[in-house]
Amino acid sequence: MNQIIESARIKGNLILTEIESKQVLSEAGISVVETKLAESERAAVSLAEAMGYPVVLKISSPDITHKSDVNGVRVGIKTKEEVSQVFGEIIAAAKAKFPQANIEGVSVQRMARPGVEVIIGMTKDPQFGPVLMFGLGGIFVELLKDVSFRIVPLTRYDAHTMIKEIRGYALLNGFRGSEPASIEALEEMLLKISDFVDKHPEIKEMDLNPAFAYKDGATAVDARIVLEK
Ligand code: ADP
Ligand code: MG
Repeated sequence: MNQIIESARIKGNLILTEIESKQVLSEAGISVVETKLAESERAAVSLAEAMGYPVVLKISSPDITHKSDVNGVRVGIKTKEEVSQVFGEIIAAAKAKFPQANIEGVSVQRMARPGVEVIIGMTKDPQFGPVLMFGLGGIFVELLKDVSFRIVPLTRYDAHTMIKEIRGYALLNGFRGSEPASIEALEEMLLKISDFVDKHPEIKEMDLNPAFAYKDGATAVDARIVLEK
């Protein structure tokens, strides 16, 4: 079993943090945005300086899965002064909204360049077992439920058709100034996730919400893995 999964289980954490989830995915060869934990304001500044601006700061807590709901996500941070200030603001906001939460610190991430936002999810169906879901980010999934599903393991044909069959498919050709997405890169990502899920029955569900799709690749900017009891 994967080491991060193992140690989360020992700690009794069934939901991996974004940092842990991204680490696991990255080890499986799935592209994720560089993400590191800062336990102090000073650490956040030195991580940001090393990564290069702009950066994104997010609350990191095993008890907070919807980080935006607690004002825990700030994108487009361009200076070290801003990193210092936002670090304090994020921790204070999380404590105010969720006083009982165990807060590890703040994750410092490279700011991914704009792409088409997609969502890839895995859930387990009582009959079919692991199933992958694909959709476009934001309102397309939440409001329009414009998603497709395939049973794991996926064939390349499955990956191809599940992308093509969503109603918003044309939006992958680029909209609102974002570059067109490579369908092949998305297929590759779906196949890697299928393979990973197939090899890890201890994973109950997961999502890349969102990943950014580009003309030459796709990268997860947020990820969550939930383990079986
Ligand atoms: P939540 O826990 O609320 O889902 P996310 O980590 O998904 O928080 O962040 C919210 C939004 O911020 C994302 O949908 C994405 O548009 C943007 N975002 C998050 N991380 C990055 C990043 N590293 N680079 C660029 N944009 C990001
Ligand atoms: Mg998210």
